[in-house]
Amino acid sequence: MKKNKEMILQIKNLSKYFPADKGLFAKKSFVKAVDNVSFELNRGETLGLVGESGCGKTTTGRTILKLYEPTSGQIIFNKEDITKKSSKEMVPLRKNMQMIFQDPYASLDPRMTVGDIIAEAIDVHKLFVGAEKTNRIRFLLDKVGLTGDHINRYAHEFSGGQRQRIGIARALAVEPDFIVCDEPISALDVSIQAQIINMLEALQEDMNLTYLFIAHDLSMVKHISTHIGVMYLGRLVEKGKSNELYNKPLHPYTKSLISAVPIPDPKLAKKNKRIILQGDIPSPIDPPPGCRFKGRCRYAKPICSEIDPELKEVEPGRFVACHLFD
Ligand code: SF4
Repeated sequence: MKKNKEMILQIKNLSKYFPADKGLFAKKSFVKAVDNVSFELNRGETLGLVGESGCGKTTTGRTILKLYEPTSGQIIFNKEDITKKSSKEMVPLRKNMQMIFQDPYASLDPRMTVGDIIAEAIDVHKLFVGAEKTNRIRFLLDKVGLTGDHINRYAHEFSGGQRQRIGIARALAVEPDFIVCDEPISALDVSIQAQIINMLEALQEDMNLTYLFIAHDLSMVKHISTHIGVMYLGRLVEKGKSNELYNKPLHPYTKSLISAVPIPDPKLAKKNKRIILQGDIPSPIDPPPGCRFKGRCRYAKPICSEIDPELKEVEPGRFVACHLFD
């Protein structure tokens, strides 16, 4: 029987600006790290957020979790508007919204045992105590492919892949609904990356988790995501179902990203025409009017310098921000 989709996260026109200058006489300019981003996410699904470094994907994830205060827009989580909630009001909600960090070396306190690292969130939310807590930690270690015997060891005794497994166990400790996976595999060896992705998929199936999966590797994102959102300079420029977007990209920027994905078959790789973008990403400080991609776009036309294209539905479920689809 087909399950009814339940919307768990709704992001409406979310922006996060950071002041670009400090000091009394500084000009009031802002780094528009996230600018008017909207998307929705259903329970049990994964939205892969991709784009070059500096495009705003990590800031989007952190702003959704209220690690940064949004400049404007709305964050609706489990039907509750959490946009204006204070840090104190966010504490009980953090049980349902967790994060897996990019760097498994920096994100685990080297002075704490694995058991203490995983227990921290359990203690904050007073979920288990005593023997029950220990059993829970052992269960979580087992879930992420480690063993209960690792409970008294320190993070530095583990490899990068194992540390990331500890980071995942920590995120799962409070039984969250939603996890922001912030480039969870990019610091790992290629041989380990697929193992972690497969594990995240198995955990999602098992625990009905919802992921926002942030990455720059489009092939991995395609593998794990039900939907993909492509960001460029703080804006979402294309979004749609993972397979459809990957097999038929519409926005010129998405096309260039997909053309850069390595193809294992040498015959197919020969046929693939890589689109090399000219120029650099412009500064996100008060970007000029018009499309932010215009300086690097081979299809740019006069309107692209004047009017910022809106993200519009051009096919059922496929959204693109580009004047080629007006
Ligand atoms: Fe290129 Fe214009 Fe489309 Fe921007 S709006 S991606 S410049 S064609």
